[in-house]
Amino acid sequence: MNKKIVIAFGGNALIKEGQKGTISEQYANAYEAIKYMDVLIKKGYKIAITHGNGPQVGAIIIRAESSLDKTYDIPLSVAVAQSQGEIGLIIAQTLKNELILNGIKREVAMILTHVICHKDDPSLKNPTKPIGPFYKTPYIFRKRGISFIKDSGRGYRRVVPSPTPLDILEKKTIKALVDKGVIVIAVGGGGIPVYITKKGKIENIDGVVDKDLASFVLAKCIKADQLINLTYVEKVALNFNKPNQKWLNHISLEEAKKYLEEGHFPPGSMGPKIKSAIQFLENGGKKVIITSIDKLPDAIEGKTGTHISRG
Ligand code: ADP
Ligand code: MG
Repeated sequence: MNKKIVIAFGGNALIKEGQKGTISEQYANAYEAIKYMDVLIKKGYKIAITHGNGPQVGAIIIRAESSLDKTYDIPLSVAVAQSQGEIGLIIAQTLKNELILNGIKREVAMILTHVICHKDDPSLKNPTKPIGPFYKTPYIFRKRGISFIKDSGRGYRRVVPSPTPLDILEKKTIKALVDKGVIVIAVGGGGIPVYITKKGKIENIDGVVDKDLASFVLAKCIKADQLINLTYVEKVALNFNKPNQKWLNHISLEEAKKYLEEGHFPPGSMGPKIKSAIQFLENGGKKVIITSIDKLPDAIEGKTGTHISRG
């Protein structure tokens, strides 16, 4: 039986540091990133792809807010749906072209995905998730009454609520497609957060779900064997960026928990990746790999990346 894998693409898959993130830049970066997936496709793995949306959803909101006198406003939930469309289009098309180029007859599908959260998630009153560009001063946010954070060294960034994903509305459809060999792009930008009312109706939540946590929920829902998290760093480190930094090759679930507790993984970056790895392994997952996109082929062969497994 072929392995089933969830691959989470980090922010730099589509927009690199210093880039404006134009659509042509995003396509070019996607082409570069998708090449590294050939190894998984040739092995015949069953694949679901997830991705973040921080820069894109921030841009969509800025576009809406700066044209309120010309067109209608959109809530954040709709902006997340739009970002799934934009990024899903770029990834799906790029991937399909790569398959055609390699003579591989596999279908690619993008599923507009809703993630079910709690109606009263505490993050709704305490926004923590940074989106959009960095600003030199917080002036623009203060003027408009928007929550923001200061990101060490890089400037100020708008923050929005980020509810915890609990379940996925389209999980059965996604699982059926992945099991059939379709490469599915799902829970883009963490998924559109919704809650279920007492009468069973679906209502939107204005927030941006963490894509690492949503990737774990997806991996659990489709019973994936492995979760691969592709980010900016080749490996996870202890004492990251400190003189006593130590790169990790293989760690156990227990070690991951211990290092998380010791504070090696900050909540805004590596923390959610490790948390999602722990939850995945505790819910039947076999292995998690965290590495950079260009190292994916080597990481699959066990030559690099941080590998986390049970026991
Ligand atoms: P993504 O877009 O993939 O979610 P993030 O910036 O959120 O990327 O998280 C990855 C970043 O986490 C790395 O680029 C690195 O700067 C940072 N980081 C924080 N702590 C660690 C650590 N202990 N080991 C490795 N990287 C870390
Ligand atoms: Mg992140």
